[in-house]
Amino acid sequence: MKKILIANRGEIACRIAATAKRLGIPTVGVHSEADLHAKHVQACDESYLIGAANARDSYLSIERIIDTAKRSRADAIHPGYGFLSENADFARACEEAEIVFIGPSSTVIDLMADKGHAKQVAKEAGLPLIPGYDGPNQEETWLALQAQEIGYPIMIKARKGGGGRGLRVVRQAEDFLDALASCRREALTGFGDDTVMIEKYIENPRHIEVQIFGDHHGNVIHLFERDCSVQRRHQKIIEEGPAVGLSQTQRSNLGLAARNLANRVGYVGAGTVECIMDSNGQFYFLEMNTRLQVEHGITESVVGHDLVEWQLRVARNEKLPVFQSDIALNGHCFEARICSERPAKGFLPSVGKVEIFNLPECVEFTHEGSLRVDSAIRTGDTVSPHYDSMIAKLMVSAPTREQARQKMLTALNRIEIRGVQTNIEFLKSIFNHEQFEKGSVDTGFVEANLKELLGIA
Ligand code: ADP
Ligand code: ADP
Ligand code: MG
Repeated sequence: MKKILIANRGEIACRIAATAKRLGIPTVGVHSEADLHAKHVQACDESYLIGAANARDSYLSIERIIDTAKRSRADAIHPGYGFLSENADFARACEEAEIVFIGPSSTVIDLMADKGHAKQVAKEAGLPLIPGYDGPNQEETWLALQAQEIGYPIMIKARKGGGGRGLRVVRQAEDFLDALASCRREALTGFGDDTVMIEKYIENPRHIEVQIFGDHHGNVIHLFERDCSVQRRHQKIIEEGPAVGLSQTQRSNLGLAARNLANRVGYVGAGTVECIMDSNGQFYFLEMNTRLQVEHGITESVVGHDLVEWQLRVARNEKLPVFQSDIALNGHCFEARICSERPAKGFLPSVGKVEIFNLPECVEFTHEGSLRVDSAIRTGDTVSPHYDSMIAKLMVSAPTREQARQKMLTALNRIEIRGVQTNIEFLKSIFNHEQFEKGSVDTGFVEANLKELLGIA
């Protein structure tokens, strides 16, 4: 691997470039017209304009990205997360152009991109499934009947969905058809596919996911779990690792289940097996993300390995550098996603010029933990309406959860951002909340405590 093209923008493009640089591999960036002066353009050794601000014409254009890789003589592409990272056509286009796609094969992506197919594979691998209908019949009346049989409340899911979109909770039969129609509309615009499936809606579960890693030599390991239960609109905002209160048995069962699933498909690269855990501690397979996750830094902190470095090594056909038995958990880590948005206005994005962007510096403490800041912008940059509202990630680790929580609050208090609205006060309210402090939150936490968290209760 002589040169890597990073087919992404923002903090993740900068983060990938940093590891490549450390390993002495030159990087090629790509940017849209809106990103001519973006931080990620500077983070790469060279960068090419690939199109208009609209992601469809730039970061989602398979043709332009492959062309740029050829033009710049990059022999590998890292897709980051979001955009084309879980797009099997893109992985296939790389394969056809003899460019290394840093991720699993297009066949595996294809299999897992459809939540219904993924459930079938999970079933074969012995993972517990949420009851539901994921068959081919998409007729309204048939689906309504399935919902009735599963029993309300149910969730309608776009089979190709992601990023919290294409999901609808339905509590009673009379709302089913409207929810189905609106779910399909969102799925069609967002994912170009309106196929849905139906699941029993589990009340107030925890979202717990397992990081897995495979290589081309048949080795698959897991790197323990992260708890991502703090969500707004089914999107994560705070994550942590390890998950609070899991017994050794639960933890090893989860890890083993995730490994079994990965083995079943001959998984190569970084991936995540997402599960939900009900109030009885029973876990169910949710979906698999065939890419590096936003919150991968938590795992890097608690297991002490650079996952992007592993991705590059695996893509170069190297064996995983460690065995399962070498992986141990160390300390506790929180991640807070800093978004340019207005929590009190339904979390609507806030865009415009960032007059001041002052975040604490990354600091590494050997015994006391560390503070890591992965950010996408600098003072003077503009937050564009075309892309995701996440502008930085704050990761804090310490020997204990409580120490990490205190450090996170200190770090959040030191942030100064002017020009755009952010969710910093909202994040602080969560870290300060009694329930969060006790480690007893589920995916319904934000909604149930919204007014209090917004300071209007
Ligand atoms: P993770 O599972 O890594 O925590 P999210 O599900 O929050 O990540 O999504 C990661 C990022 O990618 C977010 O910025 C989200 O908006 C975006 N994203 C995820 N899936 C899709 C998709 N299928 N299409 C477009 N954007 C997506
Ligand atoms: P996405 O691809 O958008 O990430 P997921 O299937 O991973 O979609 O679901 C996103 C979130 O929605 C989960 O983390 C969880 O909070 C909630 N969710 C999904 N399925 C269910 C379900 N059957 N019951 C309860 N909550 C669910
Ligand atoms: Mg998910």
